[in-house]
Amino acid sequence: MIEIYFFIIGLFFGSFANVCIRRIPYNKSIILPASHCPKCLIPIRWIDNIPIISFLILRGKCSNCKTNISIEYPIVELLTGFYFLLSYLIFGISFSLVISIILGFYLIIISIIDIHLKTIPDFLSISLIFIGVISSPWNPVIKNNLLNSLIGTISGGLLLFAIAVIGSKIYKKEVMGGGDIKLLAAGGSFLGAYNIFYSFLIACFLGGIIGLILILIKKKKSSDFIPFGPYISVGIILIFFLNHFVIPRLLIY
Ligand SMILES: [Zn+2]
Repeated sequence: MIEIYFFIIGLFFGSFANVCIRRIPYNKSIILPASHCPKCLIPIRWIDNIPIISFLILRGKCSNCKTNISIEYPIVELLTGFYFLLSYLIFGISFSLVISIILGFYLIIISIIDIHLKTIPDFLSISLIFIGVISSPWNPVIKNNLLNSLIGTISGGLLLFAIAVIGSKIYKKEVMGGGDIKLLAAGGSFLGAYNIFYSFLIACFLGGIIGLILILIKKKKSSDFIPFGPYISVGIILIFFLNHFVIPRLLIY
């Protein structure tokens, strides 16, 4: 039963993530004004703002001007709902669950902003680094090793910085943005020095495969810029989750 609560709480956080995604890049307040239709600017009534359900009832249109609402809103809500549910199933009620939820919530927002704008706001990646370092005493991966969190931050950042420098020398253009560098550094603050390297390998593997598929189905050209933030985010979350299963529980307690 409690699983359903976590899913529903996740849906509402997903609704809040949609607000963050459309306001943080423009330095707008995420609290005021209340949500409004981007076309007719009419404030959205609470009854029209229930995650998923309102979208279905309104058939994806604004209740006032009938403008189409992007399918991305319910997708982000569902993604966040399932993420909260999965986090609860893996970690149960624990500090690990709180850290997992904060990390995932941030990474969902960062990934969608990166897909929209091909940039990651510094405010998000840098505050995530601070949260990673400060939460290290309760982090199930770092295990109260503040030094490992700090080394993870530096090594995550340095790894991508080195690739960015070498890549720009070889290809004569920017291959890796500053946002990606800070994002991998943030991942390092949650995962430590070794794990962040594995996250990066997963990101490259996924990015390579999906990039290739997009080129093959002619959605992208090989010269197109493909945002890397979502792949880094998946790499970070996978290692954060897998670590829970791979390391015997006996060693932790
Ligand atoms: Zn409208």
